[in-house]
Amino acid sequence: MIFDFLQEHGLEPKKLKAVLFDMDGVLFDSMPNHVTAWKESMSRYGLSITDKQVYMNEGQTGFGTIAALVREQFGRDATDEECDIIYQCKCDVFNTCPAAPPMPGAREALEAIKTAGLKCVIVTGSGQLSLFNRLNEAYPSIFTRELMVTAFDVRHGKPRPEPYLMGLKKASVNADEAIVVENAPLGIQAGRAAGIFTVALNTGPLPDSLLLESGANVVYPDMPTFARLLSPRP
Ligand code: MG
Repeated sequence: MIFDFLQEHGLEPKKLKAVLFDMDGVLFDSMPNHVTAWKESMSRYGLSITDKQVYMNEGQTGFGTIAALVREQFGRDATDEECDIIYQCKCDVFNTCPAAPPMPGAREALEAIKTAGLKCVIVTGSGQLSLFNRLNEAYPSIFTRELMVTAFDVRHGKPRPEPYLMGLKKASVNADEAIVVENAPLGIQAGRAAGIFTVALNTGPLPDSLLLESGANVVYPDMPTFARLLSPRP
């Protein structure tokens, strides 16, 4: 179960009080929708983005991704206005995509963590207003509005540590009393920059080596594998 998992990784089981979860690509299988939305919206404005670039940029703000592509492909800085327009377009396309399904294995992992008496915290760069309702629908009685960090709570998003530091603060725990569960290189960097043990679930197409280079303490291939490690052993 979860305490064995901690001990195996040199963590003090009695200390753990909270698990900080990223959302896209961890709790929802939503990255394919983000790939569709980024590609479609970029092409409308004469820009292009590869699947790999979407996954590499995951976690940072939409503006950051657009600014980087404009610099790379147009050789100049993006204006705030064009970032606004392109990002709005990306959100519009995203909202026409079918709702992303809950990640297989996530409910089992969350229930094991909750049963162990730990707090479950959301730390996402997403700014969707309906976020809490979607979480509560997919994972009833696991999350509370108070224990959520979203795009609205932070000045500097991932890969900066601020989102995860804010998650620790909201849960009233220290860095060595929590673990982070992430899927994206920039999110992993943010977790480690906040000084937290970071579990990477490689739910996308990037090689494990990239997640390890980003600082992941451990990499698992998917959520069911992680959930099995947390569940009580027969
Ligand atoms: Mg993610």
